[in-house]
Amino acid sequence: MLIKKILKTSPTAEIMEVKGWVRTRRDAKDLSFIEINDGSCLKNLQVVAQGDMDNFESLVRKLTTGCAVRFTGRLAASPAKGQDVEFQAESVEVYGWAPAESYPLQKKRHSFEFLRDIPHLRPRTNSIGAVMRIRGQLVTAVNRFFEEEDFVQIHTPVISTSDCEGAGEMFIVTTPGAGEGEPPCAPYFFGRPAGLTVSGQLEAEAYAMALGRVYTFGPTFRAENSHTSRHLAEFWMVEPEMAFCDLREDIDLAEKFLKFLIADVLDNCHEDLELFTKFVDKGLRHRLEAVTGRAFTRTTYSEAVEILENSGKKFEYPISWGSDLQAEHERFLSEEIFGGPTVVTDYPASIKPFYMRLNDEGKTVAAMDVLFPSIGEIIGGSQREDRYEVLEKRMAAQNIDPAAYQWYLDLRRYGSAPHAGFGLGFERLLQFVTGMTNIRDVIAFPRTAGRA
Ligand code: ATP
Ligand code: MG
Repeated sequence: MLIKKILKTSPTAEIMEVKGWVRTRRDAKDLSFIEINDGSCLKNLQVVAQGDMDNFESLVRKLTTGCAVRFTGRLAASPAKGQDVEFQAESVEVYGWAPAESYPLQKKRHSFEFLRDIPHLRPRTNSIGAVMRIRGQLVTAVNRFFEEEDFVQIHTPVISTSDCEGAGEMFIVTTPGAGEGEPPCAPYFFGRPAGLTVSGQLEAEAYAMALGRVYTFGPTFRAENSHTSRHLAEFWMVEPEMAFCDLREDIDLAEKFLKFLIADVLDNCHEDLELFTKFVDKGLRHRLEAVTGRAFTRTTYSEAVEILENSGKKFEYPISWGSDLQAEHERFLSEEIFGGPTVVTDYPASIKPFYMRLNDEGKTVAAMDVLFPSIGEIIGGSQREDRYEVLEKRMAAQNIDPAAYQWYLDLRRYGSAPHAGFGLGFERLLQFVTGMTNIRDVIAFPRTAGRA
């Protein structure tokens, strides 16, 4: 039985078995206490091994942190504080030892920096284990939300021939001999340049224009050479796309979605959240409840810039109309000015991609970013340009070769309709939910510039 279940079971005379990894062993004169954990929950099960049991000296007294073990025995009421039950061992089997001289994880707390050097072992720590259980919970919550909202999940390609944000951020996909040999494999394996996807949006649009409401949830790659605590070279993005939808409805969905996800974690991850509240961020629970409990503030880019200009605050990057908001501005707005999640809309067309719908005054686009306290941008979205001629002009203005985007223009040529969508950075959400300050600590095997 999993420890998660055992801890909720009443003491019983039945013989049962438990398997897990030793966290600590403490010895008394004629008995040992072994804390074991199997990953099913944060809490350990305390196993009590009496000196007269078989293999007590040869096995039990040699157990160290990290050993994989199996005990059989009985569940009894525990006299100790902080636990209802303990496991009284009758037999022990050791699956695998973990020599203390070399095993890097010992009983003390390790820094997250240290743990990043042993990404294959760090899931055995309380903190990374808790992050990953919450991550798993959120994956199912994402899918549940879209099921309830009648969306169809689409798997958009990982290898992509369209670059949605600008060639600079794309990883090129090729083969060692791609420059030689005969076509179609030369000079490009796919007959044309290809790269790892920076967003599934354009492809999702094609499916939204047929199935109405779709979403993608997959790995996304950006060759960002920025060593920030909020950028990875490989991250996961959730991207819904809706036909017959304008910017306001898009924002409504984003707000409902974020509230749903955070409420789900608050409801289902008590124990793991408590760990982060205790060791990472005292105000965590309060911050999460604040998101679910109030409407997101909505403001335009122009209003936001005016507020920032008049704030009297010195920013590292000066701000004026026409320049993009930096993380420091985004955080200042959501933390100091609006005191909670904030949606900024209608950015200058010049700083946003060609596919965002041009507003009537011709200077701004129907874009929206959701800004969260301590994170900055967590969602970026927009209503898409659905008018063929306007889209063509925007592409020309941004030096985008229309030949490469004929299929995308076709979506406007045939049966075009208003549509909108957004992208949620899944790891940024996890950072917010756990309070973890570095994005490298909320993904299993982080990939960043210079490091994989
Ligand atoms: P930023 O300005 O923070 O780099 P962006 O404007 O490039 O973000 P979008 O292209 O709008 O971001 O992508 C949608 C979402 O994906 C963002 O709101 C963010 O949550 C997430 N995201 C973007 N880049 C990264 C990255 N390198 N690592 C992790 N998450 C990212
Ligand atoms: Mg970026």
